Amino acid sequence: MKQLLLGLLLFQLTAPVLAGVDVLSIRIWHSPLSTRLVFDLSGPVVYSVFTLTDPQRIVIDLKNTESSAVSPGDQTLGPWLLALRSGNPNNGVLRYVLDLKGQVHHDSFLLPPGVVYGHRLVVDVKPADRSLRANNDPVDSPTKKDYVVVIDPGHGGDDPGALGRRGTHEKKVVLAIAKRLQSILNHWPGVAAQLTRKGDYYVSLRNRIRIAAEHQADLFISVHADSARRRSARGASVYILSSKGASSEIGRELAKRENASDLIGGVKLGKQEHSVRETMLDMEVDWKIKESKAFARNLLDELGKVGFLHTKQVQQAGFVVLKAIEIPAVLVEVGFISNKKEERALQTALHHERIAGSMFRAIVRYCTEKSQCRVNQDPKGIHVVRKAESLSLLAARFGTTISAIKRANKLKIDTLLIGQKLVIPEL
Ligand SMILES: [Zn+2]
Repeated sequence: MKQLLLGLLLFQLTAPVLAGVDVLSIRIWHSPLSTRLVFDLSGPVVYSVFTLTDPQRIVIDLKNTESSAVSPGDQTLGPWLLALRSGNPNNGVLRYVLDLKGQVHHDSFLLPPGVVYGHRLVVDVKPADRSLRANNDPVDSPTKKDYVVVIDPGHGGDDPGALGRRGTHEKKVVLAIAKRLQSILNHWPGVAAQLTRKGDYYVSLRNRIRIAAEHQADLFISVHADSARRRSARGASVYILSSKGASSEIGRELAKRENASDLIGGVKLGKQEHSVRETMLDMEVDWKIKESKAFARNLLDELGKVGFLHTKQVQQAGFVVLKAIEIPAVLVEVGFISNKKEERALQTALHHERIAGSMFRAIVRYCTEKSQCRVNQDPKGIHVVRKAESLSLLAARFGTTISAIKRANKLKIDTLLIGQKLVIPEL
């Protein structure tokens, strides 16, 4: 009932009367924690959302609206929704009814036009009972003997991040790199890697931090791609948290842009601002910054071997996603998606491997230097070939050359066999 009243109130507040709105399409995003329905609209809409019981339903009323959208099939509705129906209960109102499989929480809000999409109404649905979350819940129980690296691919879902001139989305590139890094790390004894998102859906900055905390992460790496108006801007940069302020104007601007992800993704600020505030003691902050810097230096060093660096020094700025957990945390801008050459490279699997390989080598180096790391160094230098691995891929991963690997293993041909043991030089 409260929701009904709230909805009615919204009707009142958001008037003036608008010209007819058209629902252009309906998109559905699934994350392990929730299902998001996005109604693409021809303009801003006056709407209300409320629930009905017996059976459980969510009703979405759009005032003065018509629909030219194709209704998504029931099989695309995910684990908590049974069906999506529409009708016209009274003059000018377009009503959607979501039939539910059980009790859910819902949240709804309007989004203004962004880089890719126009006006949108977003309805988020998540099960009231946390144990009913989808099976691919990102929080698998960690084995604590491992060094846990949480990799955070930026953006996702309705937030595409930066856009390349050839149409490349930052969210796609960074997910591909993050998945590669996860796979490399998970085959390395003593390390376990987890992702804050596994697909094309939005995760709020607060939830990214929460996932890292629940995994008891030892290291946090947020992966992004940069963009700039100056098209010649190129190269990678590595940022860590600043307790005082940004180390440069560029850093300040970048942090502002990356932090705005929550606005684009639809999290209402105000509601979450305070929950991501730093809760660490000064001593912990000092330690975190010192360790983050040590790791970031290793990372810059390795990235510099495979490509250009935008800034040779570790940068500091107030990134929300780097706050609130007392572990080393970095944010990497892997290159400029706005640069023609780098955009092209960022579309290739080999370049993803090069970047993921740099991150992997930086992690191994950092761990070897630190006594608190539990990375097992036993298999040093030996790699067992797995499916879909080639000499060029392994050279990119381990920061060496094809000919160096061939020489070290006295290989005459370029073909590798699954299970073949290779000595990796310089590792
Ligand atoms: Zn980004």
